[in-house]
Amino acid sequence: MLVNATAMLQSAEKGHYGIGAFNTNNLEWATAILDAAEELQSPVIIQCTSGAAKWQTSFRVVADIVKDLVEDKGITVPVALHLDHGSYDAALECIKAGFTSVMYDGSHEPDFETNLKRTAEIVKLAHSKGISVEAEVGGIGGTEDGVTSAGELADPEQCKAIADLGVDFLACGIGNIHGIYPADWQGLSFQRLQEIKALTGDLPLVLHGGTGIPVDQIQKAISLGISKINVNTDLQLVFAAATRKYIEEGKDQQGKGYDPRKVLKPGREAIVARTEELIKEFGSDGKGWN
Ligand SMILES: [Zn+2]
Repeated sequence: MLVNATAMLQSAEKGHYGIGAFNTNNLEWATAILDAAEELQSPVIIQCTSGAAKWQTSFRVVADIVKDLVEDKGITVPVALHLDHGSYDAALECIKAGFTSVMYDGSHEPDFETNLKRTAEIVKLAHSKGISVEAEVGGIGGTEDGVTSAGELADPEQCKAIADLGVDFLACGIGNIHGIYPADWQGLSFQRLQEIKALTGDLPLVLHGGTGIPVDQIQKAISLGISKINVNTDLQLVFAAATRKYIEEGKDQQGKGYDPRKVLKPGREAIVARTEELIKEFGSDGKGWN
């Protein structure tokens, strides 16, 4: 069932488990993520960047694909369709297009006041339509859709000011970055996470850049108040590896191995398998309606 992400993340925060937010790129991706979540009876967030929506034509097409899949596959677990790192305009567009949740990332605005003001506007509009809102404080390092930031630790006071606007969950930098982590990465700052949590109370917090963080650090972060873990690069890597193996083994040149359904199948199955592993690591398996 397609729902907003508020109740599922509040349950995760109370129950000390995490919910995976997996980025979709197309029909194959959305299908695979839903199959994994349904198999493990886990709530799930499918999210889409503006770039991935453009690839699929529009946010409306993404919303229609996910809505129809949830309905026609008879998915019984709660599914939220979320905009990942949206600009102000993208958030407005997704609210119209049928998304059940949006992230307005105001961390790139010229100043914190602009982030506050625009987040408040998005919260008001989204909530009037039952749509949940994620905001961001402090840049998260790495590059996502061409947006790069220095990867600072979020300021706890700024986190509280944004939390007080009534956002439903909050992304805050705690040393995490997007993409693949460099060899000399210092790890997550649990101290900063605890400082933020102390000021934001039971607000679910979001860990971006979930690919390549050691499992023990992710699980410790979940125990300290992270409720949503964003995963994008990880599924791209397993899809590419499985597809490469199929081609390198020459299977596309055997019989009708060139059939696109055959070419895409190993990658799709790899996404299902990896998503299931991650759901178990985050502890949301069996939490479908908790
Ligand atoms: Zn992110």
